[in-house]
Amino acid sequence: MEPVIVTQKANCRNCYKCIRSCPQGAIAFSDDQARVLSEECILCGRCVEVCPQGAQQVQSDLVNVRRMLSMGLKVYASVAPSWLAAFPDIAFPQFSAALKKLGFTGVEETAAGAAQVSLEYARLMAKGERDNIISTCCPSLVLLVERQYPDLTPLLAPVVSPAVAHSKMLRSMFGSRIKTVFIGPCPAKHWEKQENAALSAVLLFEELKTLLSEKGVAFGEEDTQCTETHTPLSRLYPSPGGIIATIPANKRQGYKTYAVSGVEGCKETLEAVRQGQIHGYFLELNTCLGSCVHGPGISREKAPAILVKERLLSAARKKSTGAPSVSESAQVDLTTQFHPQKKKERQPREEEIAAILAQTGKVTREDLLNCGACGYPTCRDKAVAVWQGKADVRMCLPYMREKAESMSNLIIEYAPSAILLLSPEEKLLEYNHKAMEMLGIRGKGARGHEVQDFLEDGLPPREEWPVSDQPAFVKEGERQVRLSVVEMPGGDAIVLLRDVTREEEDRTAFEKKREQTLHIAQEAVDRQMRMVQQVARLLGETTGETKAALLRMEQAVKGEKRR
Ligand code: SF4
Ligand code: SF4
Ligand code: SF4
Repeated sequence: MEPVIVTQKANCRNCYKCIRSCPQGAIAFSDDQARVLSEECILCGRCVEVCPQGAQQVQSDLVNVRRMLSMGLKVYASVAPSWLAAFPDIAFPQFSAALKKLGFTGVEETAAGAAQVSLEYARLMAKGERDNIISTCCPSLVLLVERQYPDLTPLLAPVVSPAVAHSKMLRSMFGSRIKTVFIGPCPAKHWEKQENAALSAVLLFEELKTLLSEKGVAFGEEDTQCTETHTPLSRLYPSPGGIIATIPANKRQGYKTYAVSGVEGCKETLEAVRQGQIHGYFLELNTCLGSCVHGPGISREKAPAILVKERLLSAARKKSTGAPSVSESAQVDLTTQFHPQKKKERQPREEEIAAILAQTGKVTREDLLNCGACGYPTCRDKAVAVWQGKADVRMCLPYMREKAESMSNLIIEYAPSAILLLSPEEKLLEYNHKAMEMLGIRGKGARGHEVQDFLEDGLPPREEWPVSDQPAFVKEGERQVRLSVVEMPGGDAIVLLRDVTREEEDRTAFEKKREQTLHIAQEAVDRQMRMVQQVARLLGETTGETKAALLRMEQAVKGEKRR
């Protein structure tokens, strides 16, 4: 099977919700990303519905359909009867008109195909060859049987689904070259499309809404050429028991009937069949809880089941007044074959499971919390998934939380600063070892005390928070500290006190020493200056005396010459 559901990697936020909701364990997790395993997925669509990030997405044929319509091809819409649930206030002629405005050549109800499928089921019952017959309108159920109950594949009615039946009927009436688009609530129809060439494309109801809004088409006027099914009872198909309701009791050849919806219910019934506990039943099985009217392709704001049922019942009772669907008179081969997939998953040995469990600190029976937070029902299941390469050993949330807590506890406990956790009323909730030492607290007895009991001036007013490295004094030992405060969501606060008493003392001592050094240096300079001045004075006196002696000698020499 080609991937139908793919994870948008950028959106996945590792919440494991999809893994928890997947009934098949078909989602692997690695590199912080979920990934659907196509070879195990049954396309029930639950992961798509539950993913809060919209990371699990159904492959879309929107581009394909837009292209077919814009090219002017003959495109026929087969509208699943669950449109009654998806568009509760719209009548089919309005629906038909809107689709034709989008460019569809013809619009019919898939119910026309459902009616013929019911006839095939009745024929099978009439033959009475099978101990039990399992309905095959739900492709997800077919995948479930083929993959998990391959031994029960022969019990699947060898009949195509109404969507495929109707596509074949449309082609038989309008030509094999037409394009057929199934519009409905079911992502699994994409798989049917891969298997049946009669179906050209699949649109989910939500995608149809996108197409309508893109083109600015609103529901309003009615299609005067609209055709409607003349077998309105088959509009019940998408509701629980709806298939059975279309087969008259006198055509069942003594087969008892039982309808189940939801993967778990289907599995329970299939298990009973496998165990040989059920005989002579026609089983209507659908994997969506509440059947197709609650399919993943219908908006999340679904109407209450009871209202949907009421609407379907009224549509099923309504006598069609318009022309019948053209394809209704088509005679086509509706038989098909299903293929059991005998794949046995490798299982780890006990010691391998134990080794994986030990990696997350699960050694004794009491360590196995089986909380399901990882997405697996038990710790053992998760260990098996790790061994199979589907899960990451770090997915155990209690273990990771414990690890993170013990790490942060260690960091807090051995932090060089005092750390206080305060309530919104600024009372001590928690404090670390350093805080006890710094504030002179013994044990945990200071919990509930006002923080002012320990700080000279209390905390700065909240309007000034956050504050960082503000000078403050601790009452105990008159220590000098640097105080930082941050408010946490909910009003609690974290206070950090960095003891700077020693730093301050060192700084004061350093300042003092510097002063002294400066003083000594100044004195030395002054002394030097005085010496320089003395030397200069002495030098000045000597120079003056020499100069006077020389003058006297000069005058004496001049006197000698004149004589
Ligand atoms: S539900 Fe799955 S795909 Fe979506 S965010 Fe959570 S882990 Fe990721
Ligand atoms: S579609 Fe269903 S079976 Fe497939 S991965 Fe999602 S939840 Fe699992
Ligand atoms: S304890 Fe861990 S491994 Fe066990 S179920 Fe919970 S999350 Fe999964």
